[in-house]
This record gives sequence, C-alpha cells and structure tokens, in this order.
Amino acid sequence: MPHLPVLSVASELYPLVKTGGLADVAGALPGALRREGIAVSTLLPGYPTVLGGLCRAEAAHDFADLFGGPARLLSGRAKGLDLFVLDAPHLYARPGNPYLGPDGADWPDNALRFAALSFVGARLGQGLLPGYRPAAVHCHDWQAGLVPAFLHYGGGARPDTVLTVHNLAFQGVFPAELLPALGLPDRALHVDGVEFHGAIGFLKAGLRLADRITTVSPTYASEICSPEAGMGLDGLLRGRADLLTGILNGIDVDTWNPATDPHLAARYGAADPASRAANKRALQARFGLAELADAPLFGLISRLSWQKGVDLLLEALSVLLAEGGQLALLGAGDPALEAACAEAAARAPGRVGCLIGYDEGLAHLIQAGSDALLVPSRFEPCGLTQLCALRYGAVPVVARVGGLADTVIDANPAGLAAGASTGVQFAPATATALEYAIRRATSLFRDRTTWAQIQANGMAADVSWAAPARAYAVLLREVTAR
Ligand code: ADP
Repeated sequence: MPHLPVLSVASELYPLVKTGGLADVAGALPGALRREGIAVSTLLPGYPTVLGGLCRAEAAHDFADLFGGPARLLSGRAKGLDLFVLDAPHLYARPGNPYLGPDGADWPDNALRFAALSFVGARLGQGLLPGYRPAAVHCHDWQAGLVPAFLHYGGGARPDTVLTVHNLAFQGVFPAELLPALGLPDRALHVDGVEFHGAIGFLKAGLRLADRITTVSPTYASEICSPEAGMGLDGLLRGRADLLTGILNGIDVDTWNPATDPHLAARYGAADPASRAANKRALQARFGLAELADAPLFGLISRLSWQKGVDLLLEALSVLLAEGGQLALLGAGDPALEAACAEAAARAPGRVGCLIGYDEGLAHLIQAGSDALLVPSRFEPCGLTQLCALRYGAVPVVARVGGLADTVIDANPAGLAAGASTGVQFAPATATALEYAIRRATSLFRDRTTWAQIQANGMAADVSWAAPARAYAVLLREVTAR
C-alpha cells in the first residue's frame, strides 16, 4: 500500500531550530509515522539555521509578493526528513530566537510571519505543486493555526486538517485591524471563524476550523476543557470535545540513549545503572557541587517561566538542603527567575548549582548524573524532560498535571506493592506539596533496594514514539477516510 502523504506545518523542528518541546515532536514524529505507512513532509519558515541545514534544496515555487515581499518555496531534505522551506527574507532572515527580537520582545510582524507560513501550508494542501497533494495537513500550534482558516475561506478542494495543541498558553492573538493584511475576508471575523474576543486568534481559528484537534496528553485534553486550564478557549473546546484527542508525546530514543550518548562521562544501560556514578561526579564538577556520592542530587532542565514552577522549587529549596540534597539547575527565560536561581546558587555554594543558558549536551549529562529530576510545573501539556529522565534512570519528581500525570507512576504504597512505580507525583502544584515530595523522594533514595526498583521500572518504560505514532496514524487515516 502506498504511504499516505501528510503535510506537517511547524514553526520549529529539532535539530534545525528549537525553543521547546514542539521542535522535538516535529523532528521525531515524521520518522515514527513513516513506519506506520504515513509519509510526512514538513513546511518550515526559512530562518537562517533552517536554510543553512537544508540539503539538496530545489526551488519549487516563486511568490512575487507574499505578505510584503518576494518569497521562494524550496524543497529539500535535512536529517533524513522531507522538508519544504519558505524562503521569505523579509519575514524570516533574522538570527536567534524564531519569535523574539534582540530586545526579548515578540517581533512586531509575527502575525504576518506566521500567517504567511499558514497560507503557504494551505496552498500546498490544495495542490500548489504539481505531483504533490497531501491527504491531510497536520498543523502545530498557533503558528500554523490559520491553515484551516485559509482553506475554509479560500474555497476549492481541500485536504483534511488536524491541529495539535502543544501548549494552550500560546495563542497568537493580534488586532482585528490586521484582517485585510492577512488576506482573510471580513466574514472571517466571526465567532465561528478567526474572531477571538474582538481580536484575531490564530489558535482559536485552528481550534474552530480544523477537522480534528489533538493535544499532547489525555489528562491535558481533559484539563483544557475546564475553565481553570482552558485559558479562555474551554467553551470552544467543550463544544468540540468529540473531535479532541490526547496523544502523548514520545522522545527520540536514538538521540536520548544512555548507551550511546556522546555527551556523557560514562555510558550505561538498564543492566548497569551503577555506571551512572561517573556521570554524577561529572555533573557535580560541572555545577561546582561537592563530590558527594550519597547526597541525593536533584536535576532540573527547563524554560524559566511561571508555567514551570521553578519559583516553587526555590521556595522549597530549604527543605531540599535540609534533607541533604543537592540541586543542578539548567534553564533560561524570565530574567527575574534567572536572577533568583543565580542568587539561590550563590547562597548555597557546593550544594546548589545553576547554569543560565540553553545547552543541549549539558541537558543530557543532567539526565545521566542526577538521582532525581524535578518537574514542578503548574501546568504541563505533556513534558519531555520526565520522559528522558525515565529512560536515563533519573527518578522523576513531578507535579500531577497534564502529561506528567500520565507518564509517571507514583511511588505510593499501591504502586510500590504492585512493583509499578516509576517516580514521585505531588499535588497541588504548591511549594508545600513539593516539599513533601522532596522528603518522600529523599527517603526513598536512602532505601537503596526500593530506589533501584523505581529506577529499573522507569528505564523499562516505553517512552519511544512507537505507540504515539500508531495513535496519530489511526487518527490521520480516520480523518482522511471520511
Ligand atoms: P516546553 O516545550 O514547555 O519548553 P518540554 O518539556 O515539552 O517543555 O520540552 C522542553 C525541551 O527543551 C526538552 O527537550 C528539554 O530537554 C529542553 N530544554 C529546556 N530548557 C533547556 C535548556 N536550558 N538547555 C537545554 N535543553 C533545554
């Protein structure tokens, strides 16, 4: 049977451009879907790093004027993936973060930048290129949220659309006056179209007009239908709940493989977790921590934002230290949180280490060298660091929200008695509950047999893309079969 052609539209893709989990998903899902008989090509904006990483690029289409300037659509490959890259210098020829200018603020023309991406995604879906006609367009987050809108208002034959929400907090809301500049008709500014509280909502448009909606865990799918977590979109989501599915993310188990990982001081597998000790020493050295083999070493790898609950951890830090623990924290983001983390490290030299920045290799070492990995998020659509932690034998200590609730089995008496536990969960997402979880984790850590069992359970968990890809394949076949 020939592969089902699907166009994925994303604003990030690992390893070409990444600010978060979306890039990991967009980079890994196509390979996993190929094994399910689905051929994914991905449309990406032509940021400098994307153009630089593109191999065998061929010009596929020219746009004389695409939202304010000439543009070319290139087709090519990178890292084994089929790509379409939108080379539009007036929109994307900017170094650094894909969304933010050098001052840390959103680029003022982000509406046009991602409307252009969505517009070209829609045109590709309608057969812009001879010989290429995807059965479905898989849109990721608000940056691709207008694809279903351009298809809906554009008329003509259209492919089916699936919108995946990686984080409902990012909605792409812009002034209504931009409507003509986006090339959408007046009638689109309607509650059943792109209108969102008097403005234009890119994510809202996708949620309203896509044929199917997915998000990245079953628990988050249910949470976002409630006013508490729905961020103003819960009413719309409840109305379309029959079209909403939660499919967990996986991780790329080749990139994240402690047996072959080039970033580690010592490589190891589930059969010899004791070799993690050398990574713990290397991690302690990198973070200026005292070389204590018996101190429970907690790691954290995160964007520093309110969502991630790093402030809760700073509040709970005195308990972590009183329990004899150490902390290695890697993160970047909110300047106030960056400063607070650096201050915490300065107050507890040798016990708390903090590196501000984005460092892929160091993230791997933290997974391999930490005894426990903290994810104290206030909300978490899926979360990837706890999945990597499971695979690397760092016991995840997580808030019981979203995908964290779905991927970690708490070491409560029932879980332990069943021999199933893989980590520690806490709720609600408060400093007090986190303190209790840290106490629980350290006391489990000191019970070497139980800890080894929890670690082994985690390392045996399937965190690959195999099961999620099967679920996406079923959904894509369903939506295109109608
Ligand atoms: P989000 O997408 O909300 O940022 P996820 O847990 O889904 O959170 O994905 C985060 C990804 O980014 C993980 O692969 C994690 O290892 C990585 N990451 C986050 N912050 C850093 C950092 N400072 N340095 C290196 N990797 C990071």
